[in-house]
Amino acid sequence: MFPDKCSITERGKPCINPPEFVVSVTVDPDEYMVGVTCQKHKQVVSGKIQILQGDGKIPSGKIGFSPLKAVGTDCIHGDEEDFIQLDIKNFKN
Ligand SMILES: [Zn+2]
Repeated sequence: MFPDKCSITERGKPCINPPEFVVSVTVDPDEYMVGVTCQKHKQVVSGKIQILQGDGKIPSGKIGFSPLKAVGTDCIHGDEEDFIQLDIKNFKN
């Protein structure tokens, strides 16, 4: 099960955006899921992971982002436009 919210807490307030990416660290051959993030916080998450890696709290490896919606969008015969509309809808929730 994935968390239903972005993992980032900003200025003491947890981000309420729905997660859009699974954040993982790959140390061949293993992939560790370290959290989820919304689009807005990808850079923040990336920076935090690098700090944690520096502290040895997360294995040093390649940071990767996998879109969480990949499964849900399979049934949409969509082009780029549909995908963007879907994003906006989710954002308003
Ligand atoms: Zn966020």
